[in-house]
Amino acid sequence: MRISADTDVCIGAGQCVLTEPAVFDQDDAEGTVVLHTTEPAAEYEDAVRDAVQLCPAQALSIVEE
Ligand code: SF4
Repeated sequence: MRISADTDVCIGAGQCVLTEPAVFDQDDAEGTVVLHTTEPAAEYEDAVRDAVQLCPAQALSIVEE
């Protein structure tokens, strides 16, 4: 699994960080999403899918390999 985040549409709601802080973080200044990794380990895949669904701005997407 590979993920991408569009910081132009991210509204900094932080749902992704609450869902999986091992993968998602927020920029200290802007509040927009920061990815710890674009290729999360298998153990995080379910949480990443949840975060993609929960993001109110549809800023997150999954790139299936
Ligand atoms: S949930 Fe979506 S809008 Fe909120 S910080 Fe994460 S990527 Fe940005």
